[in-house]
Amino acid sequence: MPDLLQIGGITEEMRTRLAAAFTIRQLDDFEPEKITHVVTNGHAGIDPDLMARLPNLKVISGYGVGYDAVDADEAARRGIIVTHTPNVLNEEVATTAILLLLACYREVLRDDAYVRSGAWETGGNAALTRSVDNQTVGIVGLGRIGQAIAEKLAPWNTKVLYHARNRKDVAYRYYENLTEMAHDSDVLICITPGGPGTHQIVNAEVMEALGSKGTLINVSRGSVVDEQALIEALETGKLGWAGLDVFENEPQVPEALRALPNTVLLPHVGSATVETRSAMGALTVDNLLQHLKDGTVISAVPECAHL
Ligand code: NDP
Repeated sequence: MPDLLQIGGITEEMRTRLAAAFTIRQLDDFEPEKITHVVTNGHAGIDPDLMARLPNLKVISGYGVGYDAVDADEAARRGIIVTHTPNVLNEEVATTAILLLLACYREVLRDDAYVRSGAWETGGNAALTRSVDNQTVGIVGLGRIGQAIAEKLAPWNTKVLYHARNRKDVAYRYYENLTEMAHDSDVLICITPGGPGTHQIVNAEVMEALGSKGTLINVSRGSVVDEQALIEALETGKLGWAGLDVFENEPQVPEALRALPNTVLLPHVGSATVETRSAMGALTVDNLLQHLKDGTVISAVPECAHL
């Protein structure tokens, strides 16, 4: 059986299927020239030096859709196919974005604490919150997940705007300039890939344009938002609220961010349900098994689509 190098965690379901076709090797116990396939998750990726040390590597199968932790251009140059898990997680990640939006608008954490602490018994009615109906939401990155978010917002009579590199054939208004879109939005939802192309595109200027009544939701990558500028904007009231699933230096989250009451913070769980992780795991394994069978894969990343 060929040797498969495992980087990062995989599920038992994945391990069982992979073990029937590969000898699974761990990072502390493998022979570089024997490794033909790698399985890795979106967070772990693969170190460029390690990729260079595997002369017979053919496929890197990523358990996740984001692949900013893998140098896909370099892999393509080496003839290595990188695969990921697009589409099967669109609805789940979109739900996570909506969950953060609702939690911010309706102050779910504040009101939950109000009941739990017993303060309700003496403090009377909780303070009013804001309605999520009839808001204008700017989506930063109208790709597979961004479009699912736009569709899930429809029941709240949302006006959807979007910013992406290219204009799409959709009914929503396109903004080439992100600051202009932020100015016209009540909410910004970030759902672009990470990496150098989107590094801190949500900066102090964008957050100020979103404004003191504005809400920033980030389910993309921590690198997309200038985290220091975000903390300052939230502390000084230049920005109203933030709902975050991703952070610059996960799992470290700055104390200043954790201390702010106008945030809802999740530990990068955008796709983390039993059902969706099972579908992602199945596609991750299917890519590897199909490659063993006939040399092709199901879902190569765009950089490797020609291989
Ligand atoms: P897609 O490739 O389908 O969509 C990406 C979108 O981002 C496209 O609309 C693209 O624009 C836009 N975009 C890319 N670069 C830029 C840029 N520099 N400026 C503005 N817009 C840009 O990806 P998916 O929707 O499948 O996934 C998006 C990302 O979501 C993943 O890469 C991952 O980082 C993140 N994610 C997070 C999860 C979580 O757990 N929180 C789970 C899953 C994904 P254009 O179409 O014009 O090229």
